[in-house]
Amino acid sequence: MRHNEGVSDPTTALPPDPYRLPSASARVVILGGGPGGYEAALTAARHGVETVLIEERGIGGAAVLTDVVPSKTLIATAEVLDLVAGSQRLGLRDADTGAAPTAETLDVDLAAVNHRVRELATAQSEDIRHRLIAMGVRVLDGRGRLVGQDRVEVRDAHGAVLEVLEAEVILLAVGARPRELDTAPCDGERILNWTQLYALEELPEHLVVVGSGVTGAEFASAYRALGSEVTLVSSREKVLPGTDADAADVLEDAFARRGVTVRSRSRAASARRTADGVVVTLTSGEELAGSHVLMAIGGLPRTGDLGLEEAGVRVTDSGHLETDRVSRTSVRGIYAAGDCTGVLPLASVAAMQGRTAMHHALGDAVSPLIISQVSSAIFTSPEIAVVGVGEETVRSGEVAGEVLTLGLDTNPRAKMQGITEGFVKLIVRPGSHTVLGAVVVAPRASELILPYTLALAHRLTAEQVAGTSTVYPSLSGSLAEVARQLDGDPSR
Ligand SMILES: Cc1cc2nc3c(=O)[nH]c(=O)nc-3n(C[C@H](O)[C@H](O)[C@H](O)COP(=O)(O)OP(=O)(O)OC[C@H]3O[C@@H](n4cnc5c(N)ncnc54)[C@H](O)[C@@H]3O)c2cc1C
Repeated sequence: MRHNEGVSDPTTALPPDPYRLPSASARVVILGGGPGGYEAALTAARHGVETVLIEERGIGGAAVLTDVVPSKTLIATAEVLDLVAGSQRLGLRDADTGAAPTAETLDVDLAAVNHRVRELATAQSEDIRHRLIAMGVRVLDGRGRLVGQDRVEVRDAHGAVLEVLEAEVILLAVGARPRELDTAPCDGERILNWTQLYALEELPEHLVVVGSGVTGAEFASAYRALGSEVTLVSSREKVLPGTDADAADVLEDAFARRGVTVRSRSRAASARRTADGVVVTLTSGEELAGSHVLMAIGGLPRTGDLGLEEAGVRVTDSGHLETDRVSRTSVRGIYAAGDCTGVLPLASVAAMQGRTAMHHALGDAVSPLIISQVSSAIFTSPEIAVVGVGEETVRSGEVAGEVLTLGLDTNPRAKMQGITEGFVKLIVRPGSHTVLGAVVVAPRASELILPYTLALAHRLTAEQVAGTSTVYPSLSGSLAEVARQLDGDPSR
């Protein structure tokens, strides 16, 4: 057996791999066409290596077809409604009635919204397929399975073997699927997982969202903006467990103002259909009635029936593939990327892992993935974006840091735009003031976090951030402004 040593400790410095394959001599076989797989395929193809990408359901993977692209496209419509709802104070009036505009005066044609979502996802999937083929990647529609450590068997949807491929490098990028409760089986009509939302033709009258993590919070926010009554069932004290507590507070306030009912410290035990809706039973015995329920309780890796055991690829107790920081599994020549590794369930991370795997396998210099420099966003209203060390880590004493916070209510652009919620938070190392982490809660926080990500990656100090020119007036002005608190004079 070809085994990698020391993969279980991602912090261990990696020795040079004596088994690296020279460029252009390998045949790379990739299982899974999501961002982990397709980015890897493009990287391998750029090396001029014979590359085969096997995809079972659709190029682009869950990221393009059911998760990132559809959810953010739906949220784009929700954002417009949010803007309308917030436009009253900007002096707009309905031309006919003279009344202040409200989101309720606009009808949401969910069938049209979802049609647009599905079309956009399909087009994106096709674009990626064309790009792969144009780069010389062989795309095989089918399901791949390891047969030993250097062969992959491909079967069609009926289980017939299409091909058995020899491979010098294999990448497993098979992703994850929604976790479901046996007591709340998703039927695609009333009891839904997030992949089934885009078949809805009419807006749910009352959507019960089970799970207040990123996915649950994003859909609760979006469907409320679209006009559904929304109840969010959260097993924790606060929504968004693991996210900056101040950011979660802002979101909870926003939910309260917009009429999302949050049932904290409540756990769903089951969900069943009624004549015209659903009933969600909590573990306390209490029942919540709604028209639809969305189960957003996390994902499970698609690592079943992949031939892992026979090949000797180690999995964790949760079924994720064990990898090191350059995406190697426990078997030499077999790499893994994306949600099936359980590193961080983000499309951006999957893509990085896939590229890293190929660079490593094909003999390039590799920069291992640095999780602490990965930025991510939660696309609620307002958006929440984070990077690096969080305030909790500082408060617990795990990392020494100074926390600087500035509300957006002091920002002139925010005032002009009628933005009333949000803040920026910067965490710096005591003494040197090197940027360690940041949180931005604001409209388009996903776009505003980049300067902090750059500062973190390039070890800039708060003084360097504070001294950088910003446009006046701009929300980004607050990104620099917060850093000026270090010398005790926020107006400097
Ligand atoms: C609702 C939602 C919204 C999200 N929004 C964001 C966001 O805004 N930003 C972000 O960065 N991340 C987001 N994510 C996370 C993101 O979707 C995942 O991290 C990303 O899809 C992981 O990419 P991947 O390549 O690992 O897997 P996937 O995208 O799941 O692709 C894996 C592919 O492998 C295929 N496959 C599985 N088994 C086999 C096999 N044996 N043979 C052949 N093919 C196989 C599957 O069919 C699938 O197409 C979101 C997730 C959810 C649920």
